Amino acid sequence: MQLENKVALITGAGSGIGRESALLFAREGARVVVADVDEERGEETVRLIRDAGGEAAFVRADVSKAEDVQAMVAFAEERYGQLDVLFNNAGIFHPKDTSILETDEHIWDHVIAVNLKGVFLGCKYGIPALLRAGGGSIINMASFVALMGAAVSQIAYTASKGGVLALTREIAVEFARQNIRANALCPGPVETPLLADLLADPVRRQRRLVHIPLGRFARPHEVAQAALFLASDASSYITGAALVVDGGITAAYITPE
Ligand code: NAD
Repeated sequence: MQLENKVALITGAGSGIGRESALLFAREGARVVVADVDEERGEETVRLIRDAGGEAAFVRADVSKAEDVQAMVAFAEERYGQLDVLFNNAGIFHPKDTSILETDEHIWDHVIAVNLKGVFLGCKYGIPALLRAGGGSIINMASFVALMGAAVSQIAYTASKGGVLALTREIAVEFARQNIRANALCPGPVETPLLADLLADPVRRQRRLVHIPLGRFARPHEVAQAALFLASDASSYITGAALVVDGGITAAYITPE
């Protein structure tokens, strides 16, 4: 088991990639703190883990609120005695986040508050706990849009993910000698509730599909596997990296017919 004796905290673990990661980390022996703003779905993830024989506990937290994030980290340490893995995964995608010319300032503020400030707060309050445990692994959720531009814009989302990438590199360097590794995940489009509306539209779905060499969208468990790699000692010499899990999107100029 790759995460035996580890305590992992995953934000946004009530759905999609976060839930799959919580289930996988628990199967690999971690005690998992499931954090989410959605209490019902977070508790459901905990139930699924316990039904499978794993160990997990739920804490409600809005990652854009400092007091919630502080309480979330304190909960992990109180409940399980330490924190070894911090997966800042929670994020949103706002339907009114489009071109810079159309996107209202309050949409920008909201998306940045959850996707970027949420990661800032997770690291700000999580790092002291990792240090108390003697070190650990941070995984911050970015996206392939942190690396590439698109003509169909989600300007705040893209900017938030670019910020996550830069923030992650800086943290990786600052805390490297204190046994903390920090890496960013850059998935391509994944079939989760986040993109459900967008991908339900056949035209918008196809517009994206043609750019993916593997010819399909990712499944949440495929991203969870990459998160597990970064969480575990299998990636012990990897820090400050952006791990791309995108079916070949960022490698492609012309995709197969
Ligand atoms: P999802 O919508 O299925 O799950 C996101 C979870 O985060 C939900 O349970 C939601 O309740 C929670 N959440 C939202 N706001 C929160 C807040 N303020 N505080 C705490 N929890 C909050 O989404 P997903 O597709 O699993 O996305 C997870 C992460 O992966 C996000 O950061 C997303 O940007 C990123 N990502 C997703 C894709 C994709 O195509 N789905 C691609 C690249 C990156």
